[in-house]
Amino acid sequence: MQNLTINPQRLWDSLMETARIGGTAKGGICRLTLTDLDKDVRDWFRGQCEALGCTVTVDQVGNMFAFKPGKRSDVEPIAIGSHLDTQPTGGKFDGILGVLGGLEVMRTLHDLGYETNAPLMLVNWTNEEGSRFAPAMLGSGVYAGVFDRAFADSREDRQGVRFAEAIESIGYRGEAAPGSVKFGAMFELHIEQGPILEAERKVVGVVTGVQGMRWYEVEFTGREAHTGSTPMSLRANALLGAARVVERVNQIALEHAPSAVGTVGLVEVKPNSRNVIPGHVFFTVDFRHPDDAVLDVMERKLMDAVPAIAKEIGLEAVAKKVWDSPAVRFDADCIAAVRTGTEKAGFPSRDMVSGAGHDAAYIARVAPTTMIFVPCEGGLSHNEAESTTLDECSAGAQVLLNAVLHYDQRFGL
Ligand SMILES: [Zn+2]
Repeated sequence: MQNLTINPQRLWDSLMETARIGGTAKGGICRLTLTDLDKDVRDWFRGQCEALGCTVTVDQVGNMFAFKPGKRSDVEPIAIGSHLDTQPTGGKFDGILGVLGGLEVMRTLHDLGYETNAPLMLVNWTNEEGSRFAPAMLGSGVYAGVFDRAFADSREDRQGVRFAEAIESIGYRGEAAPGSVKFGAMFELHIEQGPILEAERKVVGVVTGVQGMRWYEVEFTGREAHTGSTPMSLRANALLGAARVVERVNQIALEHAPSAVGTVGLVEVKPNSRNVIPGHVFFTVDFRHPDDAVLDVMERKLMDAVPAIAKEIGLEAVAKKVWDSPAVRFDADCIAAVRTGTEKAGFPSRDMVSGAGHDAAYIARVAPTTMIFVPCEGGLSHNEAESTTLDECSAGAQVLLNAVLHYDQRFGL
């Protein structure tokens, strides 16, 4: 493997050039999916890829695939992908760095006339953010078979415009059936969107997976009564039950330290009056951990605690799971390629698990996949002030290039 080096300034210039498409006064980007601004950046992206000799294919949900041939046509491409859409008050790097970092990889190889063994494919996934059309990661989700095309088409924005109308109005309804544009592996470069790399002065996060997440809803019913004339021994205080569960949720997370987190973030108390003993409480529980088996244990502890606490106080309890997003473990060979690519570049790194969802989480269901994280200032993201330096962006793109070339060695003739 040769020592190939990306061009940091060219990467930065492209980041700043596309940041003007939907650029906000506060230095962020507002480029919602399938808007005219999204069309502009898509057109720009297509033009840049075609200038490198790539063939660009668009599928029926607008995912864009730029194909660069390799020495071999009998193996599936190695993909690099992320997203060019943003939040309404988004930053300049979330998603965009993954696509433009991939473009810089393609440009570097093109300039040097370096031909990989496998073909390469650069992907722009549609509607990763989910802020105009819920849910998030819609394009990659349809690609991976998590949602079907009809579901995507039926999504409506707040003005009542359907996904189907929006994609047709900007001319990005392609012909390829979702999932039919095949690749053999995918690497996604992304900003961390958290504070760990910056705090530990690491340049690269070797991402081993995405943590699992489960949501629960609990209701306690007791008895409303006068706070002055009801003795303590004759009360059925629903809020007291909730308070004990809040404490227990915190304890459960601590029992599975350091990776577990547990939160009660929403509580509704009825009647919510200072001189009435609360008769009814509704609250939510959010558990997250990189390992589903640990989440199973945490769940059992919660489901044991709720009726036990209800019994102590004389309450009726209903507890149910309302969402389960399984943990994702990225592919060992892809992770090894990132690790080797990071060592080769000499950057300090640490292994980490993503706390947020990404296109890579769905793609991991259908192809070997992993991610590369770089720091962002103060861990801030989904914010116009989101900031990452030229050095950090170029470190990420360099590791991306190294990882792809390392992974490509397996296809050597
Ligand atoms: Zn993103």
